[in-house]
Amino acid sequence: MGILIYAESENGKFKKCALELASYGRAIANQLGVELIAASFNHSEYQTLGTYGVERVIQISDPKLEKFTAERYAANLASVVKENGVKLVLLSSSANAKYLAPLLAVSISAGYASNVVGLPESMDPLSIKRSCFTNKAFNTCVLDNELNIISLSNNSFGLKEEPKEIISETKSDVSSETNFVLEKVERASGQITIADAEIVVSGGRGLKGPENWHLIEDLASTLGAATACSKPVSDMGWRPHSEHVGQTGKPVASNLYIAIGVSGAIQHLAGINSSKVKLVINIDPEAPFFKAADYGVVGDAFEVVPELIEKLKAFKNS
Ligand SMILES: Cc1cc2nc3c(=O)[nH]c(=O)nc-3n(C[C@H](O)[C@H](O)[C@H](O)COP(=O)(O)OP(=O)(O)OC[C@H]3O[C@@H](n4cnc5c(N)ncnc54)[C@H](O)[C@@H]3O)c2cc1C
Repeated sequence: MGILIYAESENGKFKKCALELASYGRAIANQLGVELIAASFNHSEYQTLGTYGVERVIQISDPKLEKFTAERYAANLASVVKENGVKLVLLSSSANAKYLAPLLAVSISAGYASNVVGLPESMDPLSIKRSCFTNKAFNTCVLDNELNIISLSNNSFGLKEEPKEIISETKSDVSSETNFVLEKVERASGQITIADAEIVVSGGRGLKGPENWHLIEDLASTLGAATACSKPVSDMGWRPHSEHVGQTGKPVASNLYIAIGVSGAIQHLAGINSSKVKLVINIDPEAPFFKAADYGVVGDAFEVVPELIEKLKAFKNS
């Protein structure tokens, strides 16, 4: 029996969620005494995966696989599963992995547990803890299939180095589907994604307009953070929709979430519940966000944020 991770990459680098999956997979492989395999698409810098415990990487290469399409990727992963006697597949909770998981589960007749937040409590049957109701509760899911898929909640396990000698194999595309990628929106290079960020700085309607977003951007670049926003902010076109977090936007599972001029509506909180530490800056001491915050600053963002940036820069230079 082997364990397979789907190692996602972007711009020639493995994403943080791929390294977290490798760390998680290594912990399970150690318990079971089995091989940890990774599958990656059109990627050659496989050694990084070895640092986090992967022993063998199968690189599937084809120009048609350059852009993610769920059907093609699922067909190729299914083929890797069948050829390598894999009994457990580990996926991240990225948007792409969420599209992929059900397709893969159907094609390999596997059980599927999403939003997993811990190591399996038992393997036969697979019993595992999941978060539910937008991270307000947990449940234990039991899957008695022979083959299972686990989607790990991003940032719930962390990165743990355990270097292994890694070998690489190549494999060609086995998919036959015709897929159409309508549009792929490229991000500016070097920008940190919300999914991979340790720190996220988010702005709401309290920022008054897009002309003031330099406050969010300056604070984010000082901290090496990603930028995010509330739904109305992206609806009004102040920021791109890719930055909208919440129930109808992206989930955030960062170590630190800084919300500036965001009221803390339930739909916003639904997306950021898995963030570890929440810092809120709001002029209104009654803003609901303070109830969910670990640290709160009651004050005007236009005064507090520039001062915070100045102090952080001075601290970094000291
Ligand atoms: C079905 C549905 C789904 C939704 N999904 C989402 C979602 O995914 N994500 C999301 O964000 N919202 C979502 N919403 C909208 C949500 O209900 C709120 O309306 C929204 O989150 C409010 O955005 P906001 O906090 O930026 O704005 P506001 O509610 O207008 O809050 C602005 C805040 O800024 C503060 N403020 C004002 N001036 C300053 C200042 N100078 N300095 C500091 N603070 C200041 C105010 O005190 C206030 O708390 C959804 C709504 C519905 C009905």
